[in-house]
Amino acid sequence: MKILVINAGSSSLKYQLIDMEQEQVLAKGLCDRIGLDGKFVHNANGEKLELDHPMPNHAEGIKVVLQYLADEKYGVIRNISEISAVGHRVVNGGEVFVEATLMDEEKINTLESLTEFAPLHNPAAVTGLRACMEVMGRDVPQVTVYDTAFHHEMPRCASIYPIPYEYYEKYGIRRFGAHGTSHGYVAGECAKLLGRDVRDLNIVTCHLGNGSSISAVKGGRCIDTSMGFTPLAGVMMGTRCGDIDPAIAIYLMNKEGLTPDEMNAIMNKKSGVLGVSGRSSDFRDLDAGAAEGDDRCRLALDMFAYQVVKYVGAYSAVLGGMDALVFTAGIGENNPSIRSSVVWPLAHMGMELDESKNQERGGARIISTPDSKIKVCVIPTNEELAIARQTLEVISK
Ligand code: AMP
Repeated sequence: MKILVINAGSSSLKYQLIDMEQEQVLAKGLCDRIGLDGKFVHNANGEKLELDHPMPNHAEGIKVVLQYLADEKYGVIRNISEISAVGHRVVNGGEVFVEATLMDEEKINTLESLTEFAPLHNPAAVTGLRACMEVMGRDVPQVTVYDTAFHHEMPRCASIYPIPYEYYEKYGIRRFGAHGTSHGYVAGECAKLLGRDVRDLNIVTCHLGNGSSISAVKGGRCIDTSMGFTPLAGVMMGTRCGDIDPAIAIYLMNKEGLTPDEMNAIMNKKSGVLGVSGRSSDFRDLDAGAAEGDDRCRLALDMFAYQVVKYVGAYSAVLGGMDALVFTAGIGENNPSIRSSVVWPLAHMGMELDESKNQERGGARIISTPDSKIKVCVIPTNEELAIARQTLEVISK
């Protein structure tokens, strides 16, 4: 069975066609600059095709994807009827869509009404869904998979904010979290790696990338997560400030005469390690800067690791102890020095890093010593596979 996974952005659309028998990626690529000049990238059969291809809208993008998936030379299937279902990534399902869902017109309309929660991402997902239905016909199941779903069952004391309760009732303001598909996937893969049942494990998962979030996972379920009502909360990130005293925003708006939108842009796009270092949001640049003696790059890196340590400690407390710590995403998978700066301060909890294993590259692996009470793992995330698995589960019901 073959499942097409679609991750639609406002002017882009990433796709993967996955054969679920072997969980093997048959083809993947990107439609970029949709509505502009249109760029198409398609990887299949060990070859990469890059084309300028005008795509006035997402439906045209989907048509191009389907055309190349079934292309005689670059394709991997004979006919698009070989695609059994499509799984769509959706950033926020609010309190309505709390699990992967088989979509119909009515549900798409409901999803459309939730755009306020993810104004940049949800409308793109709706556009992608409608485009697939239009191009593939109504008989191909379209399933939506939500980044927020994994966090939905958090206890209320973790999800409700200490502001007047009426704002939760009136506007649905609560902690939604993000990267849930990734946290759920790596927690499951961690259990496999350790040869244990995920239901018996307390795991802290660190998704550290341009956007970073940390989750406390008890028995395979998320009980708390660092991102909040929006993905601005939690640890500092590439360009996002994460948790700060909320009064700072009010103070700065008054001092600098900033509008809410301008303040929002400062917190989302000019803060985090970029804001502190004044140099870059990319941790490779910060590592290079720190190695050259740039004090603010060093400070940004130290602050980031310090904040991750604080979250791991806090989540170990709410989990009642932990069995494993997982690193994933761009930084978590590729930056041994951040991993090291996070794990060593936690030695008192029973975490011991094997520094030579930490320096190695590779797939899912344990990087703690055999004696380490808490296992430290690096697990490459695979949100597309997780979406495909959940899509398969929904259509098999
Ligand atoms: P992501 O948002 O998951 O793509 O992560 C982006 C971050 O991961 C950037 O700060 C990069 O410095 C880091 N990163 C991604 N790939 C690598 C790599 N191959 N080596 C070192 N760092 C990487």
